[in-house]
Amino acid sequence: MNSDVKLEDIVSLAKRRGFIWQGSEVYGGLRGTWDYGPLGVQLKRNIMNLWWQMFVDARDDMYGVDAAILMNQKVWQASGHVDTFTDPLVECSSCKGRFRADKLDDPNKCPTCGETDIFSEPKQFNMMFKTNVGPVADENSVSYLRPETAQGIFTNYKNVIDTFYPDLPFGLAQVGKAFRNEISPRDFVFRSREFEQMEIEFFVHPDRWQESFDHWVTECKRFFDALGLDPSMVHELEVPKDDRAHYSKRTIDFEFDYPIGREELMGLAYRTDFDLKNIHDNSGKNMEYRVKGSDETFIPHVIEPSFGVERALMAVLCSSYREDEQNGEKRVYLALSEHLAPVRYAVSPLLKNKPELVEKAREVYASLSKKYPGRVMWDDNGNIGKRYRRQDEIGTPECVVIDFDTLEDGTVTVRDRDTTKQNRKIIEEI
Ligand code: ATP
Repeated sequence: MNSDVKLEDIVSLAKRRGFIWQGSEVYGGLRGTWDYGPLGVQLKRNIMNLWWQMFVDARDDMYGVDAAILMNQKVWQASGHVDTFTDPLVECSSCKGRFRADKLDDPNKCPTCGETDIFSEPKQFNMMFKTNVGPVADENSVSYLRPETAQGIFTNYKNVIDTFYPDLPFGLAQVGKAFRNEISPRDFVFRSREFEQMEIEFFVHPDRWQESFDHWVTECKRFFDALGLDPSMVHELEVPKDDRAHYSKRTIDFEFDYPIGREELMGLAYRTDFDLKNIHDNSGKNMEYRVKGSDETFIPHVIEPSFGVERALMAVLCSSYREDEQNGEKRVYLALSEHLAPVRYAVSPLLKNKPELVEKAREVYASLSKKYPGRVMWDDNGNIGKRYRRQDEIGTPECVVIDFDTLEDGTVTVRDRDTTKQNRKIIEEI
């Protein structure tokens, strides 16, 4: 498909067309933060909605939650994050630059000043953003911006059991912000300090974790298909024991061929009963599950598919970026699928100084907007050719043009982004 796309092309299109901008750009930016413009926010929402529809709405065994970002510090002590959520940090003794030791291209050479053999011994750097809740800043008021959404699910597991008592296996799903003080944020939104996760904790009988794990491998792939990712660019990596997170007994990373190389798109982990057991032991609350109609009780085990919105979005942009030539001119377009494209239809009057065309086009615009709220764009700037180019660049699948024939026979021109072919259709058929 599209393996030779360059990151600069994606970043430049995203900026030029109002998808994604550097965070706090007017003040020189804040590293590792990104702001979404009108089209970016719609694309991101379309991805999150797709995920929610597939994994929550379409299933009877899934429940949604939305937990607070700030949580009692005991959550992060019990989960092991206070002690072990760290990355190895080295400092260059020449320029004082700080880097993540395991991500250096050359472990002996400073990527900033180019000096060699100047790194300090690696120190473990905790990636959680620490803060204080309330007006007194002492050890008791310490809290953290959550580094994963998962803990907000585990802490609500008992609430869901008490209010819904679902049969096993069942899942809790959450979409929301996560924060990590990454030592070296880089590669556009791929490694940010503030990002969004879509996570599921799927609770299973301890003897049956394997079948649920396999089920989620299939489900993850179904989601990649729905995103329109080329399957040959997605790879499964069985993560060796030493590289797994402290809570995991088995992890598969799904990697994608990004322009920056093959990197993690999302992770699927078997978290055992690690988290619920910690809560059980530390909170004094019983986290055991009793199988209905029997005396069998146990702490459920957990399969966790953890998706990053930004990495999904970046994979979607990279997979859909295309360049071709039309009438001797270079054209850039995003071959986004209909359900992801921020703009589903652009509507134009052929000439903007003909009131009868404008009026008819406004009618078509209003009726399409009812069908696709927020995803129909009015575009009467420049000539038709320019409008098509602009819409191609933002991935609009079809442009609808109202001309004089429309007034006669109720048909419009529908122009296809990928083939650039134009067809006449009756308005009601769109
Ligand atoms: P990496 O090894 O790339 O740092 P990770 O293994 O620490 O990632 P997880 O803890 O498994 O990541 O987080 C689950 C998902 O959250 C990741 O697969 C990714 O999609 C997303 N994610 C994690 N860290 C970031 C980040 N800094 N920026 C954007 N997305 C992230």
